[in-house]
Amino acid sequence: MAATKTQAKAGNSAKLTRPVANGKHAKVSSGAISVPYQKMFIGGRFVDSVSGKTFETLNPATGNVICQVAEGDKADIDLAVKAARKAFESGPWSKMHGPDRARLLNKLADAIEANREELAKLESLDNGKPYSDSFNIDLPLTVKCFRYFAGWADKVMGKTIPIEGDFLCYTRHEPIGVVGQIIPWNFPILMLAWKWGPALACGNTVVLKPAEQTPITALRIAKLAHEVGFPAGVINVVPGYGPTAGAALSSHMDVDKIGFTGETTTGKLVMTAAAQSNLKRVSLELGGKSPNIVFADADIDAAIEGAYFGLFFNQGQCCVAGSRLYVEESIYDEFVKKMTAKAKSRKVGDPFDAAFEQGPQVSQEQMDKVLGYIDSGKKEGAKMLTGGGRVGSNGYFVEPTIFVDVKEEMKIAREEIFGPVMSIMKFKHMDEIIERANKTMFGLAAAVWTKDVKKALRMSNALKAGTVWVNCYDVFDAAAPFGGFKMSGIGREMGEYALTQYTEVKTVIVAM
Ligand code: ADP
Repeated sequence: MAATKTQAKAGNSAKLTRPVANGKHAKVSSGAISVPYQKMFIGGRFVDSVSGKTFETLNPATGNVICQVAEGDKADIDLAVKAARKAFESGPWSKMHGPDRARLLNKLADAIEANREELAKLESLDNGKPYSDSFNIDLPLTVKCFRYFAGWADKVMGKTIPIEGDFLCYTRHEPIGVVGQIIPWNFPILMLAWKWGPALACGNTVVLKPAEQTPITALRIAKLAHEVGFPAGVINVVPGYGPTAGAALSSHMDVDKIGFTGETTTGKLVMTAAAQSNLKRVSLELGGKSPNIVFADADIDAAIEGAYFGLFFNQGQCCVAGSRLYVEESIYDEFVKKMTAKAKSRKVGDPFDAAFEQGPQVSQEQMDKVLGYIDSGKKEGAKMLTGGGRVGSNGYFVEPTIFVDVKEEMKIAREEIFGPVMSIMKFKHMDEIIERANKTMFGLAAAVWTKDVKKALRMSNALKAGTVWVNCYDVFDAAAPFGGFKMSGIGREMGEYALTQYTEVKTVIVAM
């Protein structure tokens, strides 16, 4: 990934700053990839769906069909769970030790790295994100994530605990078993890595349902996993729709845990299904409406850069998007003017042409949803300074849009838009902004821009969010835990904390 200077200094941290096109990947041909019919991956084999049904996956830049994909449903989920159960209880996986799992995870990371260009192309083709982002951001973060969790695979351990009496008491951190994982379409490969990394490091087996909009790369990575030697049944990928394949997985009686990333409303359905079936363990990474707060004493240009990236990156399709941008009154006008000029110059177009920074939204449905929010902003009286419409009539491109005069009660200030729509609001005092920032059902991320250390720390303590960025935005690292307060989720992904989501603690007490 093209590291910025600060990032190089920060070492491991991957700052999601869009790299400047350097000519090397100036124009990449997507036409070179033709994707055949995709089967699902169950028990170490690529198979058709039991029903024989297939669905289309589309190229969001054109609306054209990329290929047909086998459509999984309850019967396919059943087969995948059976394969995962067998691998967990009696297959070679059940006898494999941490160092062997580490070796396999490292081999998978190597294979992904070796196929980085092809995977980045497939990701951009299916999702619409600029190829340079897939290549320079999504793929390196994925490789790092697998290497990071490979490092944990032989370090998952319990404690020896002194208890009263003549006993030896110790804990074992055991894999939970068969893990169902449901992921969204905004970072298809990276979300897979966040889920597979800790689950496999801890010794679980997985059944993954990728999003119906973006199933291709998960199947390609399943093939790589098979080739590097993951035993049959350890990894299974069943593409299909949420209410069918997704629901079958979350309500399955033989799935021990479900890990989900997606909308809050869907997360509630997943949790309900888990509760109504076998009380499987649940971890959820859900929506957000993150406050990004700029104080007058901040480095304004850095704050503009960070807020711009924090909202428009990935076509605004980020659960952490800084969609409530609060700017202190005394710098508000200057900030709005500069930000508007920047948004106006943002280039929207072909994901495979490095001249463009922004690709299409993932689907017609998402584009319509975003345009609907823009309409509601206008109707509710917010003032639109730029953008507001679709770009062209081919594909699902939306103009970078900025609203001011936004009131907290407006829909655009309360609900997750998941598109390139920024609301810039004004504030006067620190206490006022803490209250406004926290007045939301979400609590995924927040950011503060200031040169005053005391102010930065006071704000970081006061903000109710799983991640608080200070003078930066969208800094992710496989070692840094990520997840939400309130209705933004349950549990943490990444870092050491992720291991607790994929292990059961067993207490053993031995009479001496
Ligand atoms: P979005 O609306 O952005 O697509 P979702 O939360 O609906 O977000 O989708 C995230 C993932 O959840 C996708 O893989 C989707 O298929 C899946 N999903 C949708 N509905 C359900 C459901 N009822 N049960 C389980 N998974 C679901």
